[in-house]
Amino acid sequence: MSENVLKGIAAAPGIAVGHAFIMDKQEIIVPARAIMEKEVPIEIARFEEAIIKTKEEIIEIQKKISSELQVEHAKIFDAHLFILEDTAIIDEVIKRIQAEKLSAEYIYFQVLKKYALIFSNIEDEYLKERGADVDDVGRRVLKNLMDETKMHDFDSLTKDLILIAHDFSPSDTASMFNKKIIAFATDIGGKTSHTAIMAKSLGVPAVVGLKKATLAIKNQDELIVDGSKGLVIINPGEETKRLYTDAKSRFLQIKERYQDIKDLPAQTKDGTKISIMANLEIPEELPAIAEAGAAGIGLYRTEYFYMNRIDLPSEEEQFNAYKRVLLESKNNPVTIRTLDLGGDKFLSSLEIPKDMYSYLGWRAIRFCLARPDIFKTQLRAILRASAFGNLRMMYPMITGNEELAQANAVLNEVKEALKRESVPFNENILVGAMIEVPAAAMTADLLAQEADFFSIGTNDLIQYTLAVDRVSEKTADLYEPGHPAIIRFIKLTVDAAKEANIPVSLCGEISGDPALVLVLIGLGLRELSMSSLSVLQIKKVVRSISISDVEALAREAMQLKTGIEVEELCQRKLKELVPDFQNIDTDYKG
Ligand code: PEP
Ligand code: MG
Repeated sequence: MSENVLKGIAAAPGIAVGHAFIMDKQEIIVPARAIMEKEVPIEIARFEEAIIKTKEEIIEIQKKISSELQVEHAKIFDAHLFILEDTAIIDEVIKRIQAEKLSAEYIYFQVLKKYALIFSNIEDEYLKERGADVDDVGRRVLKNLMDETKMHDFDSLTKDLILIAHDFSPSDTASMFNKKIIAFATDIGGKTSHTAIMAKSLGVPAVVGLKKATLAIKNQDELIVDGSKGLVIINPGEETKRLYTDAKSRFLQIKERYQDIKDLPAQTKDGTKISIMANLEIPEELPAIAEAGAAGIGLYRTEYFYMNRIDLPSEEEQFNAYKRVLLESKNNPVTIRTLDLGGDKFLSSLEIPKDMYSYLGWRAIRFCLARPDIFKTQLRAILRASAFGNLRMMYPMITGNEELAQANAVLNEVKEALKRESVPFNENILVGAMIEVPAAAMTADLLAQEADFFSIGTNDLIQYTLAVDRVSEKTADLYEPGHPAIIRFIKLTVDAAKEANIPVSLCGEISGDPALVLVLIGLGLRELSMSSLSVLQIKKVVRSISISDVEALAREAMQLKTGIEVEELCQRKLKELVPDFQNIDTDYKG
């Protein structure tokens, strides 16, 4: 067996050696379950009930969508009903349950896979796309046939495996926590896709955007995943394995390297304090955040709380979760972000076609304003939790003052209701706006008059400013954090915040980049929030620099013409200011 190397995009650092487990392209695991002869009629009845229930659901969604939105969207569901009630499919499932004595969900899944494959092999583009409809209908029926959380049943994996898939959704990755997964790799995805962000939270190496991983890798192949260089090596030879065993121990050493500064202050050589906080996706990360000595949580991405479940979280559940995060953060500040649904983050509990809440569509605050029922429940939970710690809140994807005022109007309604009910909360809770859309950065001076603080979300700001999809491996090279437009937008935002005397932080992935962080501090940022994995190494950088050095660097960067020049300047400066620096993301390769 010859060694084969696939090159993708490094998503989370580290090295794993193990065996491949290829997830079905549809990301659903439906294990075969044998049934007894006498259970056959029960299984058929369950199947028929699931079809009827799914039909009712589809008709319900269709009605809702045609009254709220355009009729074309509702038409998609005609095709879905057609597939759902196809007698050829239904008859085949029933016959196979009788003949093979296997569960309804397993047989249905097998039959649908066969049909989806037939569609995908058809030359005609229109018919090819019907394969996606078959997939959608299949999911709905399966959801009614089995507990949906079991459809992504990582618990059933029995040994340490490297998961390979065309793609994982952020909700899939969220449910991988503490499971027997030592690394993962995908065909598609970019460095700041939420799947990649979750990989860092999981603390397992990951490579995304490999293009053909699911074709090139076979189940049980021996693999090395190098999450730093973005490589997956299939069937590595003995020499490669030895080199990687060494590299792995170097990585673990670097990971431990800055432990000695964990309890020392994050301040520059000339005494300026920088607040280095962590981003939180799921509460299971709290121990790693405490372990890294982060000064608080600068971004709590609450949407993960809504994922991997078939219903919406109640106010009480949210309140308890937010309170737990606050209490475990001791007196450190926690910045909670209201639901940022859309883009690459979907909720299984909302029966909305994915293309309706695309990145430029019905996303984040727009979605919340359109669904005050969901928004108000979350706001009540956040406000109630605010009585238990140092909590601030912010809205994602604000584009201007009108939207901020609309969101605040809903917040005020919720505050009034809580007061009437004598429920305690912090009436002066700070309410911030994320600056992640060019319109917001451009008008930061106007927004600063209304927002209590800013948090710059560069992951989105870069994608919207440079018109580069953050989840696409095809445009990954165009995703340039150092682009002069980005540097200027950050400066505009920081200056506007200073002028209005409100705090400003940055919580995009670049705050964990040891080179680019120099220009961020040089531009005046004093609060940064990042993956807990980066906290200590950024502290190392902060403790090695003087503000005057990085201010000069920022002035120079503002004059440069390209993103590459800005990044090279920062890299050079990092070597000069922190000569013994070792980067957890890159330096273990030796
Ligand atoms: C951002 O856009 O930079 C951000 C921090 O939010 P998210 O990555 O969750 O979109
Ligand atoms: Mg964002």
